[in-house]
Amino acid sequence: MSISQLAASIAESPTLALNEKARLLKEKGEAVIHLGAGEPKNKAPLNAILSSVAKLNTGDIKYTPPDGIPSLKKAIIRFTEETYDRVVEPEQIIVSNGAKQAVYNLLFALLNPQDEVIMIAPYWVSYPEMVKMIYGIPVIVTPEDGTFYPRMKEIEEHVGSYTKAIIVNSPNNPSGVMYSESFIAEIVEFCEKKGIYLIMDDIYNKLISDGKTWVPAYKYTNKDIENTKVITINGISKLYGMTGFRVGWAIGNKKLVEVMSNIQAQTTSCTSVVLQAAAEGALMGLQSHVESLRLTLQNNRKIMMQELSAFNGIKTTEPDGTYYCLPDFSVYNKNSIELCEFLLKKALVVTVPGVEFGMEGYLRLSYATTVKDIKEGVERIKWALDPESPNEIYIGDRKLVRDWL
Ligand code: PMP
Repeated sequence: MSISQLAASIAESPTLALNEKARLLKEKGEAVIHLGAGEPKNKAPLNAILSSVAKLNTGDIKYTPPDGIPSLKKAIIRFTEETYDRVVEPEQIIVSNGAKQAVYNLLFALLNPQDEVIMIAPYWVSYPEMVKMIYGIPVIVTPEDGTFYPRMKEIEEHVGSYTKAIIVNSPNNPSGVMYSESFIAEIVEFCEKKGIYLIMDDIYNKLISDGKTWVPAYKYTNKDIENTKVITINGISKLYGMTGFRVGWAIGNKKLVEVMSNIQAQTTSCTSVVLQAAAEGALMGLQSHVESLRLTLQNNRKIMMQELSAFNGIKTTEPDGTYYCLPDFSVYNKNSIELCEFLLKKALVVTVPGVEFGMEGYLRLSYATTVKDIKEGVERIKWALDPESPNEIYIGDRKLVRDWL
């Protein structure tokens, strides 16, 4: 079969392969624990369900304008005002099939072949692949001091005449850290001055622990939406645990939104009207749903940190938010894919290899699961790796003895 060079260059996702292996094991009745998931266990907010059911009941399920239905845009305007203290116009919003499509359309709208996009390691897995899919070049900045916090100087050193955009995701998937307010201020100022687009992927913005405050990039520019280089990405997947509804959006200047709408119109036409209705329901309904998810995650994070702190040799940076943490497991194995495969085989625990996020030797562990699974999952990992942990464990109803350390 002849496939394009570009398509062949797009990385296969080891995570999906691992998930598939885990699914097959589960199907066989094995007691698999999933610490790999990028979605919580909650049910969708009632208002989202009622709103989409009401739309379905009309039987009038047709195409919508490519950039989204006016009533959802109204809800997004309200969300933007509350979250960002900015009033936006409907023409500055485009609704897409998830934040993922919003990022892709945006990159498609901005990049010429060979244009460079700067991203900070650890980065969300899809950024580099999306940039490559439109013949752009991902430029990775890895903080030299071994932390997850880049310094502005390091970013500036990677900027050149081909730099078109910088993507910032804070709080961050996979590390969970939130960049400092001073860093956000600096990067906004830098991008505005240099005319470089600053793509703020804010998809986890309200899921922050310990009363820390998240600062929107807009706070540091006095330019309006038509003139700023800051573009924001958001969605309902993470804040409301509505990953399967596939609704996200971007906010940018009208010309950019128009171009993104053209791209979307020619590829997926629009987001399903039923799902747009669900998103509207979520945004307009009681926001206690988000707060309750945040509180659950805050508690889970504490438990995950407690469990990991009793783990010999691994180093963990405490996450500020999101669903994840990214401990350094390199004392046990420097090859994170190998380590994930080992943990699935021996301990029946699913984790995500750090190499996918540009951090080899690390594993992403999700705490968007039950407390029981967090405790048991980490205990199993410890059993599989740490020679000082007891060498017997129950996995499901089977007693296993470690015979490899
Ligand atoms: N950005 C980041 C940083 C994410 O973690 C995700 C989902 N994993 C997305 C975007 C895409 O979200 P959506 O489900 O809205 O496409």
